[in-house]
Amino acid sequence: MEVTGEIGEIREAVSLARQRGCRIGCVPTMGALHSGHLSLIEECRKRVDYVLVTIFVNPTQFGEGEDLSNYPRPLEADLAACEKSGVDAVYAPEIASLYPPGFETWVEVDEMSKILEGECRPVHFRGVTTIVAKLFNIVQPVVACFGAKDYQQQALIRQMVRDLNMPVDVVVCPTIREADGLALSSRNQYLSPEQRQTALCLSQALELANEALQGGEKDIAAVEKQMLKHLNSFDDVQPDYAVIRDPDSLKELQEPQPEMVALISTFVGQTRLIDNRRISLR
Ligand code: AMP
Repeated sequence: MEVTGEIGEIREAVSLARQRGCRIGCVPTMGALHSGHLSLIEECRKRVDYVLVTIFVNPTQFGEGEDLSNYPRPLEADLAACEKSGVDAVYAPEIASLYPPGFETWVEVDEMSKILEGECRPVHFRGVTTIVAKLFNIVQPVVACFGAKDYQQQALIRQMVRDLNMPVDVVVCPTIREADGLALSSRNQYLSPEQRQTALCLSQALELANEALQGGEKDIAAVEKQMLKHLNSFDDVQPDYAVIRDPDSLKELQEPQPEMVALISTFVGQTRLIDNRRISLR
């Protein structure tokens, strides 16, 4: 397994693989790898001959007062996990190599980056789309795998790829959960044992929304209220939003559609967690 933080070296490795006839696939991550990340690697492997994982805690997607300095960075364990999963190359750059002095070009999806997560975390998505565009330019993959766990993120990346004619196939993989329903996240390790239990409120609220809509509820606002009521019934929980939206545009809905997505973002203690669930009435 090739491991490097140098742009020149990763380009060289990828270029040699391409010369051998390999199709290149990329799995962008911030490290602290768990089974969710490994499922993306597995899915990528099914589609390409050369799987490249990027590990980079991207500072430009963290706002002031967020967890950039505390974000877990267990690089040795991550490299071991990649090796075990049959990854061909890991690109783990330093901040200065991707954001040298004088950096001033941003990639931003206009409207969709300002709602929901974008409203709560104003610089977040500009950082995400910029780093993903940079990684695509460096690696030039034909396939890139992202998790449905970060629902708005994958929607933005698909929009960016469409709008900028990027020659990469974006594959969205299902959310991997603990047996009790909690979506795996690198941030779950911030939770105390009690908060870990409380965090089940996200998947529970999503299930309530699903049940209500499957049961014929026509009032979207009432379903959103029901989710918020459930979240607010826990002491340590402070929701940012709990909404039902169009699954592609993420725009508000006046009434139930055949396909919808329920999205939640909430603090559990000091930890901000997100989760979502597709709801199909077909
Ligand atoms: P991160 O390291 O948090 O930036 O995540 C890297 C990629 O892994 C993103 O595409 C995430 O959506 C995806 N991911 C994170 N958690 C999960 C999960 N529980 N199941 C599936 N994919 C996930």
